[in-house]
Amino acid sequence: MSAPANVLSFDVEHWHSATLLSDAVTEPASHIERSVDIVLDVLDAHDVQATFFVVGELAREHPDVVARIADTGHEIASHGHTHRPLFDLDREAFATELERSATAIHDVTGAAPVGFRAPNFSVTRRTRWAIEILEAAGYRYDSSVFPVRTPMYGVSGAPIRPYRPDATAPFEERAEGGRLVELPLAVFHPRFRLPVAGGFYARLLPTWLLRRGIATLNARGLPATIYFHPWEFNPAVGTAVHRTSVPATERFVSAHGIDGLRATLEALLDEFRFETAETVAREYVRDDRHDRVTRPKAGGQR
Ligand SMILES: [Zn+2]
Repeated sequence: MSAPANVLSFDVEHWHSATLLSDAVTEPASHIERSVDIVLDVLDAHDVQATFFVVGELAREHPDVVARIADTGHEIASHGHTHRPLFDLDREAFATELERSATAIHDVTGAAPVGFRAPNFSVTRRTRWAIEILEAAGYRYDSSVFPVRTPMYGVSGAPIRPYRPDATAPFEERAEGGRLVELPLAVFHPRFRLPVAGGFYARLLPTWLLRRGIATLNARGLPATIYFHPWEFNPAVGTAVHRTSVPATERFVSAHGIDGLRATLEALLDEFRFETAETVAREYVRDDRHDRVTRPKAGGQR
């Protein structure tokens, strides 16, 4: 059996949209074009297709940047319209966010997004209603559940493999039916659940540990869903963060490891197979039907 394809994704937003910085940066310089170009160059050199979860407002502001990503064959999906986390929204406001972001993306690419990632991984027990809204809006997959509880987000005990969530109990697998697939962010080792999902974790942790985490998931037949932000590859953003007045801890979380992240990504691309989220979600649905007949449900994966 060949190793499963992993999901490579990028959340496309301004560096100063990060929750820890958004209030502190009043006159930000835009680094979006250069940041996206760095990422596209790396992907092109490794001949890899990825998913870009784009903030709708950014697609309105920089249609050229989003068009460039789409034109090189990558998937464009939704990261909300305003980058407000779901914690600040109700059902109706979330449905509006989805609609506005889909329209903004469609206006640039000619296609509506089929996948969603919540700003700040804000699909948690508190905002579990989101799954139902996504299904109603016709989304085919969601990749917002971080299956480790952290101070800012996460759901302890949520499945770590792709699954079709039950709309009324979204951290449980649906008995049958339902099209929406959840692609949870990568965590390593079911006992301790160490996040190896990219972003801050990839800037903080040694590369060998990320590789081991992904290899461990793949050895169990599970894809690792990895995320980054284009700005995390741009050294100019590291400099900009250090010029802000935010406290040292927040500067650390926002900018630590920016200089080395490109090498980390390249090491992962050399070793593992990556695909778009849409491709992996589609494969999962197909395999899942097959599984139900031929393989008993694996225990201990939650
Ligand atoms: Zn984001």
